[in-house]
Amino acid sequence: MSAARTLGLDGPGAGLEWRSDLYRTACAQLNLAAETLGLDPDEHTRLIEPRRSLVVNLPVRMDSGELANFTGYRVQHTLTMGPTKGGLRYAPDVSLGHCAALAMWMTWKCALLGLPYGGAKGGVRCDPRALSADEMERVTRRYVAEMAPIIGPNEDIPAPDMGTGEREMAWFYDTYSQAAGHAVPACVTGKPVALGGIPGRRQATGLGAVFVLEAALERLGRPLADQRFAIQGFGNVGAVAAGELHARGARVIALSDVTGAIADERGLDVAAVVRWRGEHGTVAGFPEAETIDRDALLELPCDVLVPAALEHQISADNAARLRCRLVAEAANGPTTTAADEILADRGITVLPDVLTSGGGVTVSYFEWVQGHQKYNWTRAEVRGRLRSQMREALEEVVTTSEQLGVSLRTGALSLAVRRVAEAARLRAVYP
Ligand code: NAD
Repeated sequence: MSAARTLGLDGPGAGLEWRSDLYRTACAQLNLAAETLGLDPDEHTRLIEPRRSLVVNLPVRMDSGELANFTGYRVQHTLTMGPTKGGLRYAPDVSLGHCAALAMWMTWKCALLGLPYGGAKGGVRCDPRALSADEMERVTRRYVAEMAPIIGPNEDIPAPDMGTGEREMAWFYDTYSQAAGHAVPACVTGKPVALGGIPGRRQATGLGAVFVLEAALERLGRPLADQRFAIQGFGNVGAVAAGELHARGARVIALSDVTGAIADERGLDVAAVVRWRGEHGTVAGFPEAETIDRDALLELPCDVLVPAALEHQISADNAARLRCRLVAEAANGPTTTAADEILADRGITVLPDVLTSGGGVTVSYFEWVQGHQKYNWTRAEVRGRLRSQMREALEEVVTTSEQLGVSLRTGALSLAVRRVAEAARLRAVYP
């Protein structure tokens, strides 16, 4: 392996502060794109490690009266492209290395979609399901206060991710604005519409994935309505994607969440599953379908598998058993490097996460523009712009992949890396 190929995999950062399986996956992907492009080693070196990070301790008064410590993170991958942008995740496995990988992917996502941001990611290591609403509020407000030195409407703009949503973004916005002494709607995106949010932000990632799928299937001459979909994850992204696919006449033959999975070859009534999950807190047991093992969903025969839950769900352990023709990565980082190679050998096309899951940050960008301009967008404008940007990005990724003779993932990353590296070269190294 050449020196360039190992960057980030055995360097000091990878071994120490950024260490995580996810960061190794992100570095391996970047290295492959760099090799494909023949990237200048200086530019490669500048992109491999995050530019800035902050780890904070959050002392939070629990409902019981006890004081608990939480750890909060924010990682900014590159400051070259403008302010940084990326989600805020509340989950038990949030770590600095985890955020580093997710921040790097945000850089590529923004570059692919033509958004004027570098990538960032943050989070709090906690189990959000074990916290009351009051505890979540105190965690969120303290996180905002501690991150004050590096966040802001022109510095770094968070958004929802796993375990957070409009409610947390509303607390975020309020805390930041209280400190500023006036409303700062552009400090965070994914806010409720009543607080300067944009119509359609909550649906944006799932809908964006469906726009990409629609265009990709058109290119393959396979009408979306004729396809059978299995979707892992029934949260913000998975449930919306399922609903949008169902509305377009496609058959959603299986769905899962953390508690279990359901399958029906005839196609599930997604709205009925949403109601069932609302009443029972799980998709499992939905009476009009068979309840199956949660992870068995990944191996069901289908046309399109949509991972919309967690990272590293498709690995060397199960990639050989997938029975789909296409994987549409609506989650971030659902496929390991080893699995990618197995899928490629098996002729299974992967629509990569940096493209397919880019709808959320695209509509977040519209919301940020709205916040700065104080000029409101309509739902139709949001959907129309989102559709055209996702389709355009797919076309550019397909063209680049064909020109370079590589997979869609390496094509997407190569295109994004080329854009960011060019900007870094033009700005040069200071001092
Ligand atoms: P969410 O917390 O709303 O939903 C996650 C869903 O996954 C839940 O239904 C949960 O039960 C399910 N889940 C968890 N573990 C599972 C498992 N082992 N098997 C099956 N299901 C499981 O989160 P989300 O916002 O929908 O995010 C999902 C993915 O999409 C993440 O990778 C996230 O980073 C990515 N993403 C989200 C956004 C966004 O705007 N929310 C944007 C881009 C990417």
